[in-house]
Amino acid sequence: MDEAGILYLCATPIGNLEDITLRVLKTLKEVDLVAAEDTRRTVNLLNHFQIKTPIISYHEHNKEKRGREIIEKLLAGHKIALVADAGTPGISDPGFELIQESIHRGIKITSLPGPCAAVTAVTVSGFTINRFVFYGFLSRKKKDRRREIEEIIESNKTVVIYEAPHRLLKTLKELLEAAGDRDAAVCRELSKLFEEVKRGSLSQLIHDFEVKAPKGEITLIIGANKEAVICSRGSLTQGVEEVRQLKEAGLKEKEAVKRTAKYLNLPSRELYKKVIEEKEG
Ligand code: SAM
Repeated sequence: MDEAGILYLCATPIGNLEDITLRVLKTLKEVDLVAAEDTRRTVNLLNHFQIKTPIISYHEHNKEKRGREIIEKLLAGHKIALVADAGTPGISDPGFELIQESIHRGIKITSLPGPCAAVTAVTVSGFTINRFVFYGFLSRKKKDRRREIEEIIESNKTVVIYEAPHRLLKTLKELLEAAGDRDAAVCRELSKLFEEVKRGSLSQLIHDFEVKAPKGEITLIIGANKEAVICSRGSLTQGVEEVRQLKEAGLKEKEAVKRTAKYLNLPSRELYKKVIEEKEG
């Protein structure tokens, strides 16, 4: 083998094993090696589908040494599949460094898309999905965390955050204190047996989770800062564009106008008139 190999980023289920794509299964079978963030979890997956490809670990605590070994193998022509604990490699997990190094060394990378907790959560949250910002885990460093929270409360877009269950209440309280009683959704154990999406104001959510402590994997969605939305997106022209996108997504025109008017705080009659004008030319 004298040509460089290829690094496949294989998205794996965040819940049910059936969420895996056929292309990922085929790749896991055909590659020379699987590099897994959590070998126990990935072995279960491989066993479930009777895949016998050799597996090694690649995680936060061995990523430098193991990363160099993987790059050498790739340069020697091996085909390697990178598998995160769950979801898409590189999204809030150590895959990112390997991806950058591979690009730097001229190794081909291909991503086999599939489940990702952030995307799954934002789609069930009920908040605007046309534009959203992904933060992953908030920083634990005080200063960086304060800056991130400030950005989040100013944001005119839906915000997606990964959070551990034992830190959820602290984060909700910090957000409440900084942002006021913004609407949010706590998406728990998505695509698993105990899937739950709790929607409500930050204070309601805090109350609920004080009564019953949260458990499992959590993705937190924060609604946009409505004032920022109104200031930056409240023109009729933007309204027309929003209506067009909602119609493309399958909504009837009247419903799209109604929702957009509410969302952008526009008079619905004027918005409707503008939509008709634009249509007529
Ligand atoms: N690479 C993964 C992806 O594409 O979703 C994310 C990896 S990150 C280390 C793990 C975090 O994702 C968890 O702590 C949780 O915040 C979120 N997460 C993973 N699975 C989830 C699920 N089933 N339901 C809700 N959130 C989940």
